[in-house]
Amino acid sequence: MKKLLELLYPQVCGICGKKINERYTCRKCLNILEYYQEMKIASGQSKTYFDELLCLFPYKGILKSRMLQLKFYGYQYIAKTFGEILAHKMEQKNIKADCIIPVPISKSRKFERGFNQSECIAKYMSELTGVPLYRKVLIKTKNNFQQSSLNLLERANNVKNVYSVQNIDEIKGKTVIVFDDIYTTGATINECAKVLKHAGASIVIAMTFLYSLK
Ligand SMILES: [Zn+2]
Repeated sequence: MKKLLELLYPQVCGICGKKINERYTCRKCLNILEYYQEMKIASGQSKTYFDELLCLFPYKGILKSRMLQLKFYGYQYIAKTFGEILAHKMEQKNIKADCIIPVPISKSRKFERGFNQSECIAKYMSELTGVPLYRKVLIKTKNNFQQSSLNLLERANNVKNVYSVQNIDEIKGKTVIVFDDIYTTGATINECAKVLKHAGASIVIAMTFLYSLK
C-alpha cells in the first residue's frame, strides 16, 4: 500500500517541488536554508514571557508562497518539509524540550479550515525530533478578530484572555516549545507563553518558522 501511494504521489520537496528520495526536503534547499542566519528579534512587548525566541526565515519569496499554500490548501508535503527544517534547526542549536505545543486556533476556525497549519508543522517537528506533541494542553477558548486585520495596539488586546491551559500537570516544571507559523508583533506567542508560564511551565521557548516584522 505504501509503495503504491509513493508511486501515485511521489514525495516532493516542499520548497522547490522537485521529486526526492531524501526525507521531506531536498539537499539543495536544506543547504541553502541552513546558512540563513535567523534574525535576533526584540520582542517589542512591554513584558516578555518566553525565555528564548527563535524565528527562522523572513516571510517573503518562495517560503511565503509555500506557507500560503499550506494555509489555504493544507498540502501536507509542505508541512513535512517545514517540520523537517525546524527539526534540523533544533538539532543544530541543540534545543532540548519536554514537549512541543502549537498555538491553537479557535474551534470554529478549525472547523471552517479543517486543520491548524501550525499544528500540522509541529506534528512533523515532533515526529522527527522525538519531542512529544501536546495538542490538548493549550486551547483557544474565545473567538477573536484575525490578528492581520488589526494594528499593533489592537493586536495585544485582541489576544488577551483567549487562551487557556488544560491538563496543567503535563507542563508543570517542564521546558516547553510553543510553536506558531509566523511571528509578526509577537503578541500571540507572548500571550501563549504567559498562559503556559502561569500554569507552571518553567521554560518557554517561542519558535516560529517565518517572521514578518511590521
Ligand atoms: Zn528543494
